[in-house]
This record gives sequence, structure tokens and C-alpha cells, in this order.
Amino acid sequence: MTNILENKREGLYCPAGDFFVDPRGKVERAVITHAHSDHARAGHNYYLCSDSCLPILQIRIGTKAKIESVPFGKRTKIGSAYVSFHPAGHILGSAQIRIEVKGEVWVVSGDYKPQTDRTCEAFEVVSCNGFISECTFGLPVYQWADEQLVHNEINHWWRENAENECPSLLFAYSLGKAQRVLAGLETEGRPVFVHSAVHSFLTHYEQAGVKFPKLQKVERGIDYNFSNSMVIAPPAVEDSTWVRKMKKAKKGFASGWMSIRGAKRRRNLDRGFVLSDHADWHGLLEVINGTGADRVLLTHGNGDALVRFLRETGKDASMLEGASVRGEEEE
Ligand SMILES: [Zn+2]
Ligand SMILES: [Zn+2]
Repeated sequence: MTNILENKREGLYCPAGDFFVDPRGKVERAVITHAHSDHARAGHNYYLCSDSCLPILQIRIGTKAKIESVPFGKRTKIGSAYVSFHPAGHILGSAQIRIEVKGEVWVVSGDYKPQTDRTCEAFEVVSCNGFISECTFGLPVYQWADEQLVHNEINHWWRENAENECPSLLFAYSLGKAQRVLAGLETEGRPVFVHSAVHSFLTHYEQAGVKFPKLQKVERGIDYNFSNSMVIAPPAVEDSTWVRKMKKAKKGFASGWMSIRGAKRRRNLDRGFVLSDHADWHGLLEVINGTGADRVLLTHGNGDALVRFLRETGKDASMLEGASVRGEEEE
């Protein structure tokens, strides 16, 4: 596939360093871009990730796993390959992996976004010969608004619901999106509740300097009066008895997928907030061009439009064979 990376059944493999990036199955050595479950799987013998990814990865795959971490930007030699981690701006600790063998450089992006996000390290453009890029939202229709505008929309919605004494139940993926939504809330003295799946990551975000409003974890078996509160929960609990009991609740969902017509109606939601942790169309182009890479391989999405566009600008672009089509489905 390339001079320094092979596309194997388990995933991207670097023979010079004898390691895989975000592998499936069971491998000896796994280099992990970030702790989302479609990238970080349990069962490998050894893991390498970024320092701020480590405690989150331990929550995801357990503390028994052998995990080592390195600071962003530090060059590590694995076999005859030089490996370093660079911020991907996707969730806390998310990294692009730079791999250099005999002077040739490839970067595996993992999931990324160049847009601002106060809950994770800012994206860094890394020069390379070849770039393996996700393209979850690789169509020109995907264009994200400034994140503060989306936070304002959420806060406005909450205020309105509170005035009508309806709880605001906002679904967001438990790792990354939920923390991003929380960090943007203006409580004006109203209570904030979070589901335990969201709560488990909060201390690590706080240790990284992220500020959250005062909040309460929802405990099993307790009847709460949610009245004018904001409740943040993962979409997986949508049909639970706990949610069904919140009869007066207005339901919202924060996701890039909310930009698709009909997505809100299909899920029976009152509001959809378009907030994504992936690059939009312009973000993808800006980053891909910024790397200066001549070769581009796309994964995580339907990249046909982007492949065509990049080829017209003279790049050697194609889809990575066997690449997954879905992205941003974490639960
Ligand atoms: Zn992800
Ligand atoms: Zn992903």
C-alpha cells in the first residue's frame, strides 16, 4: 500500500516498527490514536498512546492492560521507525500518529478536527509525504458553525424549557461530546445532571484544566426532580425506563449527524444541535492541503467526493481498502 505501512486484516501495520495503529483483533503492539471504541479495543498485549489519553484509555479497556504513554511531540524509536504523537483536536488526548522510516513520513490522522474546542488540545498540522485521513463528513454540505454559536443555541433552548418547567434532556456521546457540551453550559443557577457514563471521564478532563459547571451524577434508583435542569446522557439510554419517566422532558441531541435532514424527526427529538468532533468539508481540505502530502488515503466515511476533488487538484488520493464507512458512533 505504501513503503512504510501495510493494510492488514487487523488494520494499519508498520513492518519497520512491528506495530499496528488502532488495530482490531488481538495484536502484539498497538499504537492508539484515541480512546473511542472504534479505535481503542481491548485484547492487545501492549498499548502506546498520548499522556492525556492514558487515564481515559484505562477506563475504556481496564487497568490491567499494559499501556505506556508519551508526551505530544516526543520522538520515540520503535524498531527502525520513529513515532510521535501530535494533537488531533478530536477529544482529550486524541492524536495523529507520525511515522518516519528512512526519511519517508506518513501521518495517520485518527479522528480529527481543526475547529476550536475548549476541552482538548488544539489540532496541529504535521507535514508529511503521505496522509491517512478520516473523512466522516467528507461532503461539501457539511459545514460547521462556530462552536460558541452552538453553545448559545443550547443555552437558549435550556432557558426556554426551564421557563416552562420542562427538564432539558440532551443526548451526547459519553466521551468527548458530552464534556464539550458541559463546558459550554451557562447554568444561571439551574441544576445540571450527568449520566454515570459521562461522569466517569470528568476528573481526567478537569486534571487537564477543563472547567465544568457545578453538576450532579445521576445515581440508580433515586427519584430526582429534574424540573428546570439540564440532563446530559449518552444516546444509548434513550429507551431506558429512567428516560421514559422524564415525561415532561424536552429532548435534544448534539451531533454532526443532526445536520442531516430528517435525523431529528426519526429519533423523535425536539431539537438537534449540529456539533461535531470531526472536520467538516473545509476543515478536511484545509488540513489535507496543509500537510503538503502528495499521497492521501481516506478512511471512516464515504470519501468518493473528496477523492475526486483531491485528484482534480493533482493529489494521488484514494479510499483505504476495507475502511469502515461509519464514524462517530461510539456507544
Ligand atoms: Zn473518535
Ligand atoms: Zn472514529
